[in-house]
Amino acid sequence: RALASKDERYAFYRPELNDGVYERFRFENALRRALERDELIVYYQPQASLATGQLIGFEALLRWQHPELGLIPPGRFIGLAEETGMVLPIGERVLRLACEQSMAWQREGLRAVPVSVNLSARQFSERIVDTVAKTLAETGLEPKLLELELTESASMEDPQKTVDILCKLKEMGVRLAIDDFGTGYSNLNYLKRFPVDRLKLDQSFVRDLTSDPDDLAIARAVIAMGHGLRLDVIAEGVETEGQLALLAQHGCDEVQGYLFGRPAAPDDCGRMLREEKALALDKLQPQPYHR
Ligand code: C2E
Ligand code: MG
Ligand code: MG
Ligand code: MG
Repeated sequence: RALASKDERYAFYRPELNDGVYERFRFENALRRALERDELIVYYQPQASLATGQLIGFEALLRWQHPELGLIPPGRFIGLAEETGMVLPIGERVLRLACEQSMAWQREGLRAVPVSVNLSARQFSERIVDTVAKTLAETGLEPKLLELELTESASMEDPQKTVDILCKLKEMGVRLAIDDFGTGYSNLNYLKRFPVDRLKLDQSFVRDLTSDPDDLAIARAVIAMGHGLRLDVIAEGVETEGQLALLAQHGCDEVQGYLFGRPAAPDDCGRMLREEKALALDKLQPQPYHR
């Protein structure tokens, strides 16, 4: 046990070692153990409608709750998980946890809230269609409460295959989104054939939105194109009121970012949902009757 955690620490502090076959093997084992020990958990980040300010859903974001190293973000290990194939069982776990969480909130009497799950390019094969069908059936989640996010670059690796698989998923009734939009090389001939519901404007265009006119031009173009294709556009990485104001002014539909809420543990998100409910109930309190 002590040796294992030393290995893991080694792998994180000396990432270049992951290039070696042996280090890769150790890392794969560390990830497999993490999966077995339920150290791979999901945080949820709220998404809000710009028109109403209402919470409209949560994005499921993977974390490794490491016993010694603390909470490790996916950027530190998802690449190697993809290379080793571990992203397949990990992705299935995230999908299941997210569907179960949405159901758990409903069972607590909170409203049915949509959850978005990221898919890696590696997961995006015919197998995903069965996996999603099975997970929905087993958890009982309504398909329309599940959204699957595929990055723009992953979607363009083999766009015809993407069309085929997205169509099968769409037939099931799940929602589909293109993540990190604007950072890949979209083939617009294909993009128009993807049966997706929304575009996620990448946070790299949002970061300097208030100071860089080029970013604003790109954001406006993505919003206009999205709307032209009858898609919702959600901006990622919204941190300031200034960014929010510009996005609202240019007709962006939805936002996600630290301004509205950081990715948080399920209990904290449950609290958000309960407070929202309390707020709504407040408004419904009968007003004192005056003659
Ligand atoms: P993503 O899907 O584009 O997720 C958004 C990332 O931006 C998240 O990072 C989130 O914490 C971060 N973020 C959100 N709001 C803000 C903000 O206002 N400012 C800044 N600076 N960042 C913000 P995170 O959680 O570290 O995830 C990074 C990436 O890892 C994700 O990017 C996604 O591509 C990938 N990922 C996360 N979970 C999964 C998963 O379950 N499966 C797969 N295949 N990939 C995942
Ligand atoms: Mg995403
Ligand atoms: Mg993104
Ligand atoms: Mg990203």
